[in-house]
Amino acid sequence: MRFYWSGNEETRMTNYADFHRRSIEDREGFWSEQAKLVDWQSPPQQVCDYSNPPFAKWFVGGTTNLCHNAVDRHLKDRADQAALIFVSTETNQEKVYTFRELHTEVQRMAAVLKDLGVQKGDRVLIYMPMIPEAAFAMLACTRLGAIHSVVFGGFASGALASRIEDSAPRVIVSADGGLRGGKAVEYKPLLDEAIRLSAHKPESVLLVDRQVAPMPLVEGRDRLWGPLREKHLNTSVPCEWVDATHPSYTLYTSGTTGKPKGVQRDTGGYAVALAASMKHIYCGNPGETYFSTSDIGWVVGHSYIIYGPLIAGMATIMYEGLPIRPDGGIWWSLVEKYKVTVMFSAPTAIRVLKKQDPALLSKYDLSTLRALFLAGEPLDEPTAQWISAGLGKPIIDNYWQTETGWPILSICKGVDDAASKFGSPGKPVYGYDVKLLDDQTGEELAGGDVKGVVCVEGPLPPGCMQTVWRDDARFVSTYWKQLSGKWVYSTFDWGVKDKDGYFYILGRTDDVINVAGHRLGTREIEESISSHPNVAEVAVVGVADQLKGQVAMAFAVVKDASQLTDEAAALKLEGEIMKLVDRDLGAVARPARVRFVTVLPKTRSGKVLRRAIQAVCESRDTGDLTTMDDPAALQQIRDLVTG
Ligand code: AMP
Repeated sequence: MRFYWSGNEETRMTNYADFHRRSIEDREGFWSEQAKLVDWQSPPQQVCDYSNPPFAKWFVGGTTNLCHNAVDRHLKDRADQAALIFVSTETNQEKVYTFRELHTEVQRMAAVLKDLGVQKGDRVLIYMPMIPEAAFAMLACTRLGAIHSVVFGGFASGALASRIEDSAPRVIVSADGGLRGGKAVEYKPLLDEAIRLSAHKPESVLLVDRQVAPMPLVEGRDRLWGPLREKHLNTSVPCEWVDATHPSYTLYTSGTTGKPKGVQRDTGGYAVALAASMKHIYCGNPGETYFSTSDIGWVVGHSYIIYGPLIAGMATIMYEGLPIRPDGGIWWSLVEKYKVTVMFSAPTAIRVLKKQDPALLSKYDLSTLRALFLAGEPLDEPTAQWISAGLGKPIIDNYWQTETGWPILSICKGVDDAASKFGSPGKPVYGYDVKLLDDQTGEELAGGDVKGVVCVEGPLPPGCMQTVWRDDARFVSTYWKQLSGKWVYSTFDWGVKDKDGYFYILGRTDDVINVAGHRLGTREIEESISSHPNVAEVAVVGVADQLKGQVAMAFAVVKDASQLTDEAAALKLEGEIMKLVDRDLGAVARPARVRFVTVLPKTRSGKVLRRAIQAVCESRDTGDLTTMDDPAALQQIRDLVTG
């Protein structure tokens, strides 16, 4: 099937292998062309300074501004077109901001931040629900050259405190609360406690009162956005031109070990990388609408709710609410209403929708939608097949990380008409010199069935992390190795590559299990188990075993719990699943047990907390659980394994 990808005719004609090769072999030529996709105050003098590896400096000598590229430069051609579309099914609000209105609001926010003393290089921590003021705050920061650090609104005091301490913000922007499934999450007590716990104290806290939760103010520190905004209804705040290498933001990775790492991103490289990705990967055109269902607290929210679509001159939907409220058709209704052309979500969300009435997929007119991109975790084949059949659109799995800021592996539809293969996020994206390396010897693996660590030979392309905030040594020691004189970045993911150059991600290297000397990816086992018709979701972890070193243990959520009437029924289903794994992967991968639970423990971003499950199974301390969504889920497993 061939789909029409408007706007990129010229590049699509190019052979993708050549396109990719050129991005590596003629790095300067390739990226200087991409750099034309954004506005510069003064043009770069050097494309990439890699004289101090593994640190790469992109577009050296150039000055630019992210907010200018996302907002101001569109005023000429599309001031009255939609820029930010806010939809909350929690408060039943819907508001469309044009580029002109967005420009005005961002300047009001920038003026207020300036009044609070924020200057170029200062940090501003943003702890906000999915409301327009969060977007205004991010854009206002980059407008001023201040460095934002968005902390996911679902994090509680401890996690927030460590981020406040590390980023040391002058100002924190927050709100009275967020809403989830109709319930208010009170932010203010969490924030006050976090500030109390942190050794660093902000000078001011700017608060948006949405009147969903009580918000007692701290005299002399807390300021209300509403009245301060009123003072600046007509204030103009020009963009601060910054060096391309000036940090635009830090974003903390969920970090299962040690203190969270502040991934630091630059300005010029990020702007170019996002602009290029909108053209070559996502194929979004000015005047169209992009809908990413993520949250601004995550990297997808930064790159593909805020900056990427806006840089491309697209309208972007900011959605507050659940995917199944008022019903499982809500997202598709927005696609119809706002004529969404590009959509971005996560496999977990699709699995949630998979449990809903499939008729909801055909209820709305989705003719404008060209593709659904999914990322963040492995996309299992049954889920991919289900959504692909239901939508009748290309489903494009793309693989990347907080660290990279944009895809490492994908099908680049703007350049390459190659089809996706189920189970694979595709091929190395231009700019990434991806290598599959043997984890023991560091030697490059040719491909085939051999599993290796997915690595990228330095320099990382524009837009990727510059360093760990205030910790260059940690950046080098965590991510980089020197192999045969070359610097290589590790993604910490296992992968294989097929003969056509498609990669398959097999899970984190740190989640690998070793059963009787056989190394197995938990993902392979999970995929096999989830192909059972009565399995909705499953997590597999490696658990210490005296005889085999480790055994696999599976925890599954069934689709139809009414079949699990008693112990015998559960054992029968367990037996069926084991047979399935035997058949798919061989007895070596068969889990020692398959236990049934009603829900899996997950982070609020939807990642299964395998480490915590593993720790519970091994009667160890579960470590930091601040990102966990529902503690009862882990308790179910604890009860099962101790009961
Ligand atoms: P995060 O930094 O939270 O986005 O997590 C990045 C990690 O998520 C990667 O290192 C992978 O382990 C996983 N991941 C992201 N996208 C994919 C994908 N498309 N397929 C498989 N795993 C993915």
